[in-house]
Amino acid sequence: MKKILVVEDEPSILDNVLYALQTEGFEPLSAGTGQEAREILQNTDVSLVVLDIGLPDVSGFDLLREIRSKSTVSVIILTARSTEIDKVVGLELGADDYMVKPFSPRELTARIRAVMRRPSSLKEGTSCNNAEAACPFELDESRCLIRYHGVGLDLARYEYRLLGVLIRNPGRVFSREQLIQRISEDPDMSLDRSIDTHIKTIRQKLKSLRCDEDPIITHRGIGYSLKE
Ligand code: CA
Repeated sequence: MKKILVVEDEPSILDNVLYALQTEGFEPLSAGTGQEAREILQNTDVSLVVLDIGLPDVSGFDLLREIRSKSTVSVIILTARSTEIDKVVGLELGADDYMVKPFSPRELTARIRAVMRRPSSLKEGTSCNNAEAACPFELDESRCLIRYHGVGLDLARYEYRLLGVLIRNPGRVFSREQLIQRISEDPDMSLDRSIDTHIKTIRQKLKSLRCDEDPIITHRGIGYSLKE
């Protein structure tokens, strides 16, 4: 039975969701705080996390960032506000889907099933999404190593994370801010321009291996993307 962790501090919502999950044949686990959620995630193999953004001890966004830094588990966020910004931030931080309160538990379980059917682009061992095109990159997350045409790249920590984000999302354009959000432990501290410096270094490292290729990372006005 698939274990689903529900992180939610409002008992009435929690009860409804737990009941719906049980009825649908899942094994629900519950946490009322971020700390409880951390403990469960550390000790239990969970298939999916339903995560409320408004928790008493930690922001759901911070918890999501924490989960994403260690795990590829699917996450659906719950937000009380229907503002675009919550949705966008949540998805950019790596949530698979979101639900705005109030929602019907039945709709939530339908979304959970949909997310579980979806092959996640973040799962370990994946490189480029585009299976048809030969991808020159190979992302070995267990060893924090990226190979380019079979050769391991000597990358600094942020270079590795940055290139990793681009490899997982070929063709997608990221703004500097989005990249900072994804690679930095303290996004407020980083400066936009440091991204440019990292990209420049990555380009040089790639070029030193293969001078015959066009630069793989493209700059499209507002952001960077990896050429498909
Ligand atoms: Ca709440």
